[in-house]
Amino acid sequence: MTQRALELLLLVALGGVWGWAGDDPAWTFAGGLLGGLVWVLWDGLRARRVLDWLNRAEAQRAPALSGVWAELVDRNRKLIKKLEKKAQSSDHRLEDFLSAIQASPNGVVLLDAHGRIEWANLTAANQLGFDPQRDVGQYVRNLVRQPEFSQYLKHKDFEREVQIEGPGARAGQSTQISVQIHPYGKKRRLMLTRDVTAVQLAEAMRRDFVANVSHEIRTPLTVLSGFVETMQTVPLEESDRLRYLGLMSQQAQRMQTLVSDLLTLSRLEGSPAPGQGDWMPTQELLRHVLQEARGLSQAIAQPVHTIESLGDDSAWVSGSKSELLSAMSNLLSNAVRYTPPGGRIEAGWRLNADGSATFFVSDSGPGIAAEHLPRLTERFYRVDRSRSRETGGTGLGLAIVKHVVQRHGGGFDVQSVVGQGSTFALILPAVRVRQREAPALRE
Ligand code: ADP
Repeated sequence: MTQRALELLLLVALGGVWGWAGDDPAWTFAGGLLGGLVWVLWDGLRARRVLDWLNRAEAQRAPALSGVWAELVDRNRKLIKKLEKKAQSSDHRLEDFLSAIQASPNGVVLLDAHGRIEWANLTAANQLGFDPQRDVGQYVRNLVRQPEFSQYLKHKDFEREVQIEGPGARAGQSTQISVQIHPYGKKRRLMLTRDVTAVQLAEAMRRDFVANVSHEIRTPLTVLSGFVETMQTVPLEESDRLRYLGLMSQQAQRMQTLVSDLLTLSRLEGSPAPGQGDWMPTQELLRHVLQEARGLSQAIAQPVHTIESLGDDSAWVSGSKSELLSAMSNLLSNAVRYTPPGGRIEAGWRLNADGSATFFVSDSGPGIAAEHLPRLTERFYRVDRSRSRETGGTGLGLAIVKHVVQRHGGGFDVQSVVGQGSTFALILPAVRVRQREAPALRE
């Protein structure tokens, strides 16, 4: 302040001295006034420089001034720097926030008060089929044109979500997208989207499964209760009574097998995969299931099947013994049940070049048409429904085999030609296969 007063005084004094040379007091006064005016102009120029710089609001290129102007510039420079830092950190925070929303597995769309897209993450754009950059500013109703969504926007029923069909990853493949709008701020809207295709598929499978199980149980139950009613109301000869009891026992057995297979499946789904620890000789597994198959053939076929063991029985395999036995015996019992009496069945283990091992069952049965092959491991899928029922099938055998194989990290394969028989194979990976002399076996 003092510096500015001194500058003013100096210029007024210089002007006065200059006027004084004119030998007239009026000139002295005028000179002083002129000096004052020059100072006001100079000061004004400095104020303009400061204002211009403030307008640019750049902390770096501050004007070089002295005195109170320098102090003013310095304080403002510090303030601008502080604001710049704050703005930078807000930008970073916003970027972090948007990257977090970008990474979300759910779709997020921000809409303005008129329903125009302000921002959308990639997930939402993919699920709804628009471009997250190009379509900013577009009305969402013009981009998402499914009638359910238009109705939803029209009725503003935002308490609930709406499901629409989204574009699939590939042509001809659609997805189910759940969309819900949440109003916020001043008439703005947050739109959340979720791909519910898998959930819906699982729900449909669950419904099918319950319907199938109910159907499978209802049939023998109806037969059973019919016999019970007959026996309660009609006086029967001893031979009829015995025949009825036999049929009833068959139906009860059928329900028991079904429940037992269902329990096996649920155990396979709900328990951890078997470890590498338990090693067993393939020879022993094979002997066990062949014996079972021969027993079954004697019980249901006349003449019995020729059941032969082939392949290499020198390997040991690791996994769950009970699960492997169940998978192997399912394949063999299918071969016995579906191959006409007197037919030929071959089963055994084969070692593959990559170290894996295959258990195979070949039969001379009716074979399976190619269109059925991909569906054989679905629960309750049967090619020949009546043959399956006649021989006590539940439609769950190959589903169990598939689960066992998956839990052991292996594969499942079916080769079949109608009229020429089928070959079913389960493959165990190399890590689960050892030759007889493997060190692990001597521990
Ligand atoms: P099921 O209890 O009905 O035998 P599976 O799941 O074991 O059920 O088999 C599914 C279907 O695959 C069977 O119903 C049958 O139609 C067919 N199938 C399985 N094994 C054979 C086979 N060796 N030869 C012909 N068809 C077979």
